[in-house]
Amino acid sequence: MSVRAGREFLAIPGPTTVPDEVLRAMHRPAVDIYAGPLLALTDSLLKDVARVFNTKGRAYIYIANGHGAWEASLTNVLSKGDKILVLESGRFAIGWGESARRMGAEVEILKGDMRRAVRPAELEARLKQDKGGTIKAILVAQIDTASGVVNDIEAIGQAIRAAGHEALLMVDAVASLGCMPFEMDKWGVDVAMSGSQKGMMTPPGLGFVAANDRAREVHKKAGLRTPYWDWTDREGDLHYQKYAGTPPEHLLFGLRAALDMLFEEGLDNVHRRHWLLAEAVRRAVGVWAEGQAIGFNIVEAGERSDSVTCVTVNGHDPEAIRAYCNQKCGVILGHGIGELSGKAFRIAHMGHVNAPMILGTLGVVETALGALEIPHAKGGAQAAIDWLSEQVKA
Ligand SMILES: *Cc1c(COP(=O)(O)O)cnc(C)c1O
Repeated sequence: MSVRAGREFLAIPGPTTVPDEVLRAMHRPAVDIYAGPLLALTDSLLKDVARVFNTKGRAYIYIANGHGAWEASLTNVLSKGDKILVLESGRFAIGWGESARRMGAEVEILKGDMRRAVRPAELEARLKQDKGGTIKAILVAQIDTASGVVNDIEAIGQAIRAAGHEALLMVDAVASLGCMPFEMDKWGVDVAMSGSQKGMMTPPGLGFVAANDRAREVHKKAGLRTPYWDWTDREGDLHYQKYAGTPPEHLLFGLRAALDMLFEEGLDNVHRRHWLLAEAVRRAVGVWAEGQAIGFNIVEAGERSDSVTCVTVNGHDPEAIRAYCNQKCGVILGHGIGELSGKAFRIAHMGHVNAPMILGTLGVVETALGALEIPHAKGGAQAAIDWLSEQVKA
C-alpha cells in the first residue's frame, strides 16, 4: 500500500519545480530568429540576468547546463598553464576546478572540507604568500549543493582585497541565484555563473555568466577562448551572434516568465521566503537530531544554506528513507553525493517552493523515520509549523 498517487513532489536540488506560468510561456510555436519579438526578448533577458546578479557588467546566456557555464566562464579568462586557486567546501568548486585542470590550468586547492564553509582568513593568508601574483583566478561556490554549505562571498572578496591580490574572483551561483542575495559588484566578484534549473525555476538548458570590466579586460588576452563560448563574439550586434547560433527560443520564453514572477514577488521577498522555509527545515531536522541518528552535515548553524539542507544519517541507510519517501509518499529527496554517498540525504528548498511543499516534505520524512523505526525525537514537522506560525504573521 502507498499514499503516493497525486502530484509527485521533486525535492532534489535541481532541477526544481517549474511553475505552470513558465510551462505555459513555453507552449508555443517556434518564431523567427532574425526579426520580431525574440530580439527584444533577448535584450530584456540579458539586462535582467545582470540585474539578478546585481552587476553593471555584461551577462551572457548559453545553451548549456551548469557544467557548460563553468566552461564558458573559464575559457573566457584563462590561458593554458594559468594557476587557479579552488576554495573547497564540498564538491562543486572542486568539480569546476577539475574542468579547469582538464582545460590546461594549473589547479591548487585551498583545503577545506565537506562540513564547513571556506574560511576567508585562510584564503587571505594563502594569497599573501603569493608574492609574485601567480594565482590568476579564485573559484568558489556560493552554495555547495553537496554539502549544503553557504559561503560568505562578501568576506571572501574582502580577504582578497586585504591581501592586495589581483586574482579574479569567480563564483558559482548555480544553487543560490534566485534563492539568496548575490551582490556581484558590491562584493567584488569578477565572474559569476549560474543555470536555469534551480532557483531560476526554468527547465535545465540555460547557462548564465556575468562578467565585469576587469574580467572583460583579462578576456582580451585569454588563450583558452573557443568560438562557441567566446564573449566577444556574443557581444556582436547580430541577434544570431548572441547565442552563437540558433537561440533556445522556448527556454527563453520560459525564463522571461520566471524572471517576471521573481520580480513581481520582489527579490527581497523571494530571498526571505527561502530563508523562512529553509529555517522551517532546519527546525525539523534539529528536533529529529535529538534521536542521535539524524544530523546536520554542516556543523555551524550559521553556515547552512537557504536552498538545500544536507541531512546525515548515522547507523541507518539514508537510501531506505529516500526509497520510502518516493515509493510510499511521492516525495523525491536528493541523495548524498561525493564522500556523503550512502551517508546522507538532501532536502532541497529552492525555487518555486511554498509552505505546503516544504511542510508536506517534512511530514513525509518524519513519516519515513517512524515507519523505518529510525531513532528521532518526534515533533520535527511540528517545530517547522511553529516556526512559520511565529514568523508569518496574520
Ligand atoms: C547543480 C550545480 C552545478 C552543476 O549544474 P549542472 O546543470 O548539473 O551542470 C554546479 N554548481 C552547483 C553549486 C550546483 O548546485
